Amino acid sequence: MQNALLPNGRIVNAKEYDHQIHGKEIYCPECKVPLIWANPQNDDRSPYFRTTGYGESDHKPFCPHNRVVKILNTMKKVNQFTTRLSDIPEAEKVVIKLNLKTDMIKVPQGEVNEIPNSHPKKSYKYSLRYNRRQKKPIRSISSLSAIARLIMDNKEEELNKVFLDYNGKQLPLSDLVVDQTRANELAFNEGKTSLHYIVYGRILKVVKTEKVMFLNFDRENGTLKPFAAFVFAQDFSWFTYTKDKLENNAVLVWGQIQLNRKYKKAEIQLRSNNNIYIFSKK
Ligand SMILES: [Zn+2]
Repeated sequence: MQNALLPNGRIVNAKEYDHQIHGKEIYCPECKVPLIWANPQNDDRSPYFRTTGYGESDHKPFCPHNRVVKILNTMKKVNQFTTRLSDIPEAEKVVIKLNLKTDMIKVPQGEVNEIPNSHPKKSYKYSLRYNRRQKKPIRSISSLSAIARLIMDNKEEELNKVFLDYNGKQLPLSDLVVDQTRANELAFNEGKTSLHYIVYGRILKVVKTEKVMFLNFDRENGTLKPFAAFVFAQDFSWFTYTKDKLENNAVLVWGQIQLNRKYKKAEIQLRSNNNIYIFSKK
């Protein structure tokens, strides 16, 4: 965040902030929770304000700076554009090869993390902004967390120039990363899609029985069509996320979209933790 609210009601910019002048009490201008000032020395980023995630310092659910709200809004805006390959000047186009593993990779427990920056095998940075500066665009994405990072680190203007090279075709990001309403259109048209799609949304409720676990997506006051992801009991050992970790969080799920004929809604089957990315609040 670039701006913070001071106790006297004024707004201060992170580049101008000085704790000796402005004091240490600084708040989110929208939801008024306490913030801290961060001044990263070891990368090109300018100073900024952020929450700590501890105690009160966590954006309220309605706050536009809440990560969940932010991700959903960014993708909504990207999906409002119908970008065509020919509309974008060649020099501005960013083509990324999508190479998500179609085989089930079994992860007995825990989350699959991006390899850390310090790791000797770490070779890509996922922010287009950084890449443009380095003239070294990212070329391939092989995990949902990399897609998540791409969405979080870039504005919609930049995301509109992103094309995914998938199955030999170049498709705009917004063709493959879809909301639950679009997922329903695809399910009704195709029954079961031949391509794998990434569906974004917020999980409202998790229902687990002995045979199956349903992750029901929030319909955002009826503005979105119903959608669910499900896991069969045989895969419970590879899909280890609990109700607590899933509910109320924004997620990306990945798989073939299919029509549930009984309930007339779109679904995706998840086989392991690799089929989901959870945007945690902290
Ligand atoms: Zn806030």
